[in-house]
Amino acid sequence: MPTTYQLYIGGAWRDAADGATFPAINPVDQQPWAHLPQAGSADVDAAVAAAREAFDGGWKHTNGLTRATLMQRLAELLEADAERMAQLETTDNGKVIRETRVQMRFAARNYRYFAGWADKLHGESIPLDRPELVDFTTREPRGVAALITSWNSPMAILANKLAPALAAGCTVVIKPSEMASVTTLAFAELCEKAGFPAGVVNVVTGDGSVGAALTGHPGIDLISFTGGTATGKAISRVAAEHLTPVTLELGGKSANIVFADADLEQAVTGAVAGIFAAAGQTCIAGSRLLVQREIYDRVVAQVCERARAIRVGDPRDEATEMGPVATQAQHQRVLAFIQRAREQGATLAVGGGVPQGEAYDRGYFVEPTVFTEVAPDAELAQEEVFGPVLAIIPFDNEEEAIAIANGTAYGLVAGLWTQNLARAHRVARRLEVGGVWVNTYRTNAAQAPFGGVKASGIGRERGLHALDEYLEIKNLMIDLSSEARDPFAIRT
Ligand code: NAD
Repeated sequence: MPTTYQLYIGGAWRDAADGATFPAINPVDQQPWAHLPQAGSADVDAAVAAAREAFDGGWKHTNGLTRATLMQRLAELLEADAERMAQLETTDNGKVIRETRVQMRFAARNYRYFAGWADKLHGESIPLDRPELVDFTTREPRGVAALITSWNSPMAILANKLAPALAAGCTVVIKPSEMASVTTLAFAELCEKAGFPAGVVNVVTGDGSVGAALTGHPGIDLISFTGGTATGKAISRVAAEHLTPVTLELGGKSANIVFADADLEQAVTGAVAGIFAAAGQTCIAGSRLLVQREIYDRVVAQVCERARAIRVGDPRDEATEMGPVATQAQHQRVLAFIQRAREQGATLAVGGGVPQGEAYDRGYFVEPTVFTEVAPDAELAQEEVFGPVLAIIPFDNEEEAIAIANGTAYGLVAGLWTQNLARAHRVARRLEVGGVWVNTYRTNAAQAPFGGVKASGIGRERGLHALDEYLEIKNLMIDLSSEARDPFAIRT
């Protein structure tokens, strides 16, 4: 029997005001396995009002130690429940269990990291030109935050937002993706158990209309969004009406660049991790593999061999390396990209279709797919596929590698594989991205800032700078003198 979930608003569980629901579909067999409430504008109003009441009613005045203690308790609860949460997330979005387990622990690590900052949000004492003026800053929570997440890593992405929001003293209304909402509601139960006051954390579920109602709501003080670039632009337009600050974590077309002096075994593993982990459904997918000409044939041969050997199957099986893609729409979209790449003349080296066999009949499976000799301006080298499809592109020298890497609208991350320290620094400096990995890929840390430039987004998550997104700086200037002044000239 599918489980029925409820909205979490003002510390209470309730159905959508009009009783509407939608099903959660398991991408392995296309079966509905849970029922979720489809919120309407009345539910969004109620959630924003609850978050406002909790903010003004006390949360903004809590001391950092209180917030940190609650957040550490939440992290403990998530760690204790990691296996169940990982199973739920794998059932919801088809991501392999070996990754969702790691993601639950990583989410908990983020709550612990930001808990550590909650009681250290001090401002600065600023010496001015006039010694009789005392100046200092304080940092205050911005207010009610709308947190909107995508389906590919609901818990990990939520932690990037919720952990700094809670540490800063904001209250939140969360809107997970309609494609994978179950773990967010299960997580709200953990927030309740941890003892957060009613209204600090609220969850509304449903399709994009719920996100639109939330981001356009005048009661929202900031928006943090992870999802597609087109949705990010739509949210920015709406936010402009209310001058609401926005953090956007959007798409990518990241380059993984292998120089001839790289440790090739490491680099090939990095290439596989970059594109086939999570069936390519990650914003940081290294979907373009740029390989220096001298080693091109060797790297292509090794990547193809590794791609052919990937165990595709049920993501709940520990041995599975690649599960299905998350939705029917995504399945069709990825296959259409592959078809167009073939028509446009890229060389298909591995995969290119749906794996054959009974085990794959009912799920949204796609073969690990490798195209070689892809032109840097081809659709496959420019557009985000969000699937297990790699475009390999040869290059001759550093200059050319940098030009190709920078030659897309996106700018999320890049990978560099080289044993030459000077080259690593030289190239990293010139890449138009928010983060560069050298001799590693898809390695995350709670302390290291993450985010994109260009069409990949605005703002940073994780690390100390993430707090800035949720805090306002207030300046306090005090005149210790009783000097007479000219009221008609500004004082400096
Ligand atoms: P999406 O943009 O379709 O949806 C994301 C969220 O926005 C969902 O909760 C959706 O319901 C909501 N939404 C849809 N329309 C809205 C509107 N008009 N106003 C407000 N909210 C609205 O993205 P997706 O398909 O769920 O996720 C895939 C995309 O997310 C990819 O492009 C991927 O690169 C990106 N992504 C980025 C990061 C990152 O950190 N940079 C991480 C993961 C995924």
